[in-house]
Amino acid sequence: MTAKEMKAARLYRAGEPLAIESIPVPVPDVDEVLVEVAACGLCGTDIHLAVDGDIPVSRSPITLGHEAAGTVAALGEAVTDYAMGDRVALFPSATCGHCRFCLAGRESLCEKAQVYGMSRDGSLAQFVVAPAWTLVPVPETVSLDIAAVVTDGVATPFHALRSRGALKAGETVAIVGCGGLGTHAIMLARMMGAGFIVAIDVHDEARKRALELGADLAIDPMAEAKVGRTIRQHLGLGVDLALEFVGRADTVQTALSTLDTGGRCVVVGVGTEKPELPSLLSFVGREHSVIGSFGMDKRDIADLLALIARGRLDLGQSVSARYPLLEINEALGRLASKETGLVRLVIEPGR
Ligand SMILES: [Zn+2]
Ligand SMILES: [Zn+2]
Repeated sequence: MTAKEMKAARLYRAGEPLAIESIPVPVPDVDEVLVEVAACGLCGTDIHLAVDGDIPVSRSPITLGHEAAGTVAALGEAVTDYAMGDRVALFPSATCGHCRFCLAGRESLCEKAQVYGMSRDGSLAQFVVAPAWTLVPVPETVSLDIAAVVTDGVATPFHALRSRGALKAGETVAIVGCGGLGTHAIMLARMMGAGFIVAIDVHDEARKRALELGADLAIDPMAEAKVGRTIRQHLGLGVDLALEFVGRADTVQTALSTLDTGGRCVVVGVGTEKPELPSLLSFVGREHSVIGSFGMDKRDIADLLALIARGRLDLGQSVSARYPLLEINEALGRLASKETGLVRLVIEPGR
């Protein structure tokens, strides 16, 4: 029998520490599943929500956490696809399952999605409730902490490279911003057969790690006034595909400056700034594309878990540290301090 009470990390007000509280274990609806959370990764969005307060939550208090995996602990009576104890990863939002985008397999655009930790209680708790259709089975050989990180930290750059950027083998790639998402983008671009990978980041440690994980060239945009020119000096041309993971006007412009004629720029970073396009003579004449990429589809998560299970993708270095739920504020503080060298911090609510 599942316990009646559980510990959860609750957000009352941005800027205040999360409160670790005992609250009732949620009860799954007929088509939902109760998951005992084994691991929940922290991401930049959590800092926006809990520290900076520049992404609003729809109610307070709310349990944070949207990057999780665990085991099935209870089932709604209509759920037939899962059994007790099944290992599952959670899609980062509770999608509706029937809007035009869900039906098309484009869950990232679900019109009624409830994001965990924003409009629905999340996974920084011992248990979380999820609609059954949003779960992804985790292969036996993939650990649950890696599966958790895959759901957002790896699936987001994979979606940007594959679905939005349409990366083809042999193409050249620039990655602007090499934190958790950008670092995984480098590893994924390498796996997908990119012909040359340029990492662009202001932090020495991030550039060093990028080179270790598969980048061919690392550029410090503070030291090199013209990033695009430096790339052309090495490659002879700009890149086919640039990915932006920062979400600022100047970094989008840096990404655009790296493009070859005909190149695509995929913007993943979000923010309120307005980047400028180059002159239309240049933008149109060189057939540049600027493409938004938001989150991931369920298929991105399932395909990544299969790639890991088959040994095609090694995420052995993706979890930088693990914390019990009681130390969530320490972990958030570490992430908010922009300490470099971190890929993902994972909370293990069960320990
Ligand atoms: Zn996230
Ligand atoms: Zn939907």
